[in-house]
Amino acid sequence: MDFISTRDKSNLISGSKAIIEGIAEDGGLFVPRIIPKIDKIESLKNMDYKEIAYKIMSKFLDDFNLEILKESIDKAYDDKFSKKEICSLVDFGELYFLELFHGPTFAFKDMALSILPYLLKQSMEANEEDKEILILTATSGDTGKAALENFANVEGIKIIVFFPEDGVSEIQKLQMRTQEGDNTFVVSINGNFDDAQNGVKEIFNDKEFIEELNEENYKLSSANSINIGRLIPQIVYYFYTYGKLLGDGKIKDGEKINFVVPTGNFGNILAGYYSKKMGLPINKLICASNDNNVLTKFINTGIYDRRKKLALTSSPSMDILISSNLERLLYHLSGGNDLLIKDLMIKLERDGVYELENLDIKDFKGYYANEEEVSESIKKVFEEKDYLMDPHTAVAYSAYEKYRKESKDPRKTVIISTASPFKFPSKIESSLENKIEDKNEFEIINKLGKISKQEIPENIKNLKDKDILHKTKCEKEDIKDIIRDFLLKDEKND
Ligand SMILES: *Cc1c(COP(=O)(O)O)cnc(C)c1O
Repeated sequence: MDFISTRDKSNLISGSKAIIEGIAEDGGLFVPRIIPKIDKIESLKNMDYKEIAYKIMSKFLDDFNLEILKESIDKAYDDKFSKKEICSLVDFGELYFLELFHGPTFAFKDMALSILPYLLKQSMEANEEDKEILILTATSGDTGKAALENFANVEGIKIIVFFPEDGVSEIQKLQMRTQEGDNTFVVSINGNFDDAQNGVKEIFNDKEFIEELNEENYKLSSANSINIGRLIPQIVYYFYTYGKLLGDGKIKDGEKINFVVPTGNFGNILAGYYSKKMGLPINKLICASNDNNVLTKFINTGIYDRRKKLALTSSPSMDILISSNLERLLYHLSGGNDLLIKDLMIKLERDGVYELENLDIKDFKGYYANEEEVSESIKKVFEEKDYLMDPHTAVAYSAYEKYRKESKDPRKTVIISTASPFKFPSKIESSLENKIEDKNEFEIINKLGKISKQEIPENIKNLKDKDILHKTKCEKEDIKDIIRDFLLKDEKND
């Protein structure tokens, strides 16, 4: 299986190399040259998460040693996850919630980041890469913690995470700043997520700086969802869900279902699109956005316009105006028109806007929810179904209601539930009570735990007693210097 750049089809590399590189030299993202097919969907109903993971991932990563891939899957999806099934499907009749937050950091990022270190290690060995890997990651909250947790103390790898000072929740901030592990560094950037993501992207395009790092024996890589090693493991849970519904007798073989995906960087929902192209019976992929609704507009009009102010919402992991992975979808939808993609991405950077005429995007629907609608959804679902949703999931629920109302589509629908409600206590409390009291986050968490009968994860409860280990702040112009400082300081410590 070859991977090619969305901006230059002739740039063709293996899966393991694509995982090491993260992003193509021409600025494009790697995509599979051919999307593989999965047959005998019905057999999924007898398979557990790990077996499905192997079935899917081995199709894409055929240059890997498959025995080792299997071992990696075993190690990644172990009792770090609080559910034996790895994710759980909560059944409310025609509506389901697929909970992807039972991993070590309580957000869906664990689904892929628990295995990425193994994939990266294996890729380095396969390519005889003897440099030390330096992972640079910009985070809107959840990627950062999940990457730190999963890469902590992995030999031969260092990781630096940049988060926007004002763009993540208090719990997310605490989770990152208390991270242990000698190879981990956390920096808050004065700016928003797009600033952080662009700052990090610039480093990946800075040949001179990359050369400087090479001379110090470092090889840059990325844990963001631009890395194909993040996307492939995310395809697994779409197949798992279908198998589970089949096994439980909730759907018939071949019956089409919908997925609603709370979307930021378009990684999760793109994995859903790949699943559909691989043969999974999916009707619509419903793209749910918050007030940063550039994708809603794009899906409905073909115009992508990022020329607005980023709104800071209660779903910070979706506070994004430049959804990187959309580039991959455009590549596939355009039939592999790399020149067109390059042109659009230049326009986006230069003008902040592009328009695609004759956009055929019928696999998708796009809706968004404002803060008030998110609050209403949290309250409604708690009162009617006794179920607490985090604000990201609540955005998806709001989109689901809008879709149902508009389409009258009776098909079974799965809402992807991306974070534990206990990561975002304040918004939930204010939604339920209709008032904001001046209480600390941990008191609110305890209270929510009591009223909901949902279990508060230990590692959220004990955050308040942990030491803050990372205090560095920087301006986005200083990213390079910060990296130099860390690497230098670290050598002196050795
Ligand atoms: C990252 C994240 C999202 C958005 O996922 P994308 O793959 O970036 O679209 C949604 N919800 C939560 C909780 C997240 O952490």
